[in-house]
Amino acid sequence: MRRVPEEQGHDGAGGEAAPGPSTPAGVETLMTELSRLVQPLVEQSSWWERRGKDCSVLGAAFLALPPAFLLLGSSGLLAFAAGVVLMGVAHAVITIKGTHLASHGALSESQAWAKFWAVFFIEVCGSFSAQAGVRGHIKLHHAHTNIVGLGDSSLWKVPFLPRAVYLFLAPLAVPIITPLVALAHLRRHGAAAAAARTVAMVTLGLYSQYWLLVWVSGFRSVPGALLCMLGCRAMFSIPYIHVNIFQHVGLPMFSPTRRPKRIYQMSHGVLNLPRNPVLDWIFGHSLISCHVEHHLFPTLSDNMCLKVKPVVSRYLMEKQLPYQEDSYLSRLQLFFHKYQELMVFAPPITELVGVQ
Ligand SMILES: [Zn+2]
Repeated sequence: MRRVPEEQGHDGAGGEAAPGPSTPAGVETLMTELSRLVQPLVEQSSWWERRGKDCSVLGAAFLALPPAFLLLGSSGLLAFAAGVVLMGVAHAVITIKGTHLASHGALSESQAWAKFWAVFFIEVCGSFSAQAGVRGHIKLHHAHTNIVGLGDSSLWKVPFLPRAVYLFLAPLAVPIITPLVALAHLRRHGAAAAAARTVAMVTLGLYSQYWLLVWVSGFRSVPGALLCMLGCRAMFSIPYIHVNIFQHVGLPMFSPTRRPKRIYQMSHGVLNLPRNPVLDWIFGHSLISCHVEHHLFPTLSDNMCLKVKPVVSRYLMEKQLPYQEDSYLSRLQLFFHKYQELMVFAPPITELVGVQ
């Protein structure tokens, strides 16, 4: 049985730290070795592969908005329903795939543009605080994946809710809860200038959609326009909550004082779902079938995660490390039947001793 050394410090969401003097080289070099296999693939890739494909998907979502607003103005039931679906899909692509890539700075090589896109996607489109989004996703979730008390997904746990309500009803309130959580975060952490910008950007995003529904789609009643906004914004809230819990909760959890090396942490604490045309477009590969790859190489775009997937999966299997995959339905059944254990009680800590 081989004891896996723990990692005391952490290098954030980027790559692996350089081998330290006290770390056995065999373990330390695994991540370095994997990076050496992945790096040439990234360097050989064109701009289209590295960023273009994902930017095009986001661009297509924005192009879908004008026809969606026009269809929403139709008096025919079928055309109106098509408008709702088109608006819902476009909004989900922009606010799930777009905000995720923007939070990682994966949409641009320029830091200034990356910051602009983070504010645009997270605040204007996603009605959330860019500061809170980046802090929660990059600095906690990615840097401390499945470390108890830090990146343990407890954010997603609402233990007082019964399982059916949590899994199928409460997610519909996500569009209302999101700006309220942002406001609460700003009250606790936000500097005045950042808080004022966030409030202005979130208001701009919400009011723009409302204004277009009134003046382009012809909504005459305030409740009607607000209900339409809620319906479109909540269309993919249920899979959004599911995906967020399915890929980490129930997998090994680690103690903050005895954390494993990054490659063990990610291979044990992250799970991939199978490819699915709808979810691939809306969430992006890095949140669905390439979540393991995304946690190992978080700055890669969705398309690049898909490209390096065969190399990463083969490497982890060759090294007899876990490469965890499960279907959406199987995870849903697991969470439904073991809801108390997974979502209510505190997760037990896994010591990576003798596991490999
Ligand atoms: Zn991420």
